[in-house]
Amino acid sequence: MSTLEIKNLHVSVETNDGPKPILRGVDLTINSGEIHAIMGPNGSGKSTLAYSIAGHPKYTVTEGEVLLDGENVLEMSVDERARAGLFLAMQYPVEVPGVTVSNFLRTAKTAITGEAPALRQWVGDVKDAMGKLRMDPEFAQRDVNHGFSGGEKKRHEILQMELLQPKFAVLDETDSGLDVDALRVVSEGVNRVHENTGLGVMLITHYTRILQYIKPDFVHVFVEGKVAEQGGAELADQLEAEGYDKYLTATV
Ligand code: ADP
Ligand code: MG
Ligand code: MG
Repeated sequence: MSTLEIKNLHVSVETNDGPKPILRGVDLTINSGEIHAIMGPNGSGKSTLAYSIAGHPKYTVTEGEVLLDGENVLEMSVDERARAGLFLAMQYPVEVPGVTVSNFLRTAKTAITGEAPALRQWVGDVKDAMGKLRMDPEFAQRDVNHGFSGGEKKRHEILQMELLQPKFAVLDETDSGLDVDALRVVSEGVNRVHENTGLGVMLITHYTRILQYIKPDFVHVFVEGKVAEQGGAELADQLEAEGYDKYLTATV
């Protein structure tokens, strides 16, 4: 059993006009095997939270803690965080021309486990995982995200998750831009890893659509840089009906 604890997290982003405070005291604890949905309007700081956990250099933590099984994540480099078991599926996955999916995945796996996976086994694992995500095998030889459609990029994020076997995954709007078939395949992938490995999931979304496929244990309403309310899956239905208006303070 592992625990990811976020305590009173305050984060500023670097802008041309200097640091701008975005997160204003986030408290959130995720245990292995739990699925937490983070729902909130655009600009509320959801991606900032995701990047802060992953260690993006543009985001400065000004107060608070992130602990993985009691270890201070904020003192770790990005690759140390990945080795410790944190995984981020990005809202906008980056293209890496010149690096094939196959090489990228094997390099990532090697970096995380500390040794190159046995080739024959690895090739089989990649093929299986791609098959489950309904990805054409030829994808393995394409450059990472280069010319991929939105749905293909999101499948590739879940493929990484499936192969890298993290303890906790932060999925930043993995549902956005997916058609119904892709949404189902991607959701099945998340559920599969969750069920097989006890993955803890932070599922960031602003639509309830994906929650028909991935059932959250907890729902957190994220507004203006912090958690405004939390509840069970029923809270998502309430948000769908009522929107976020009641959580917003007067316009600034
Ligand atoms: P969300 O993912 O909930 O839509 P973000 O975390 O992307 O929200 O952004 C939160 C706020 O921080 C927004 O007001 C956004 O404009 C601002 N922000 C994020 N990154 C930057 C940046 N690099 N420069 C300026 N403002 C930023
Ligand atoms: Mg569950
Ligand atoms: Mg975002």
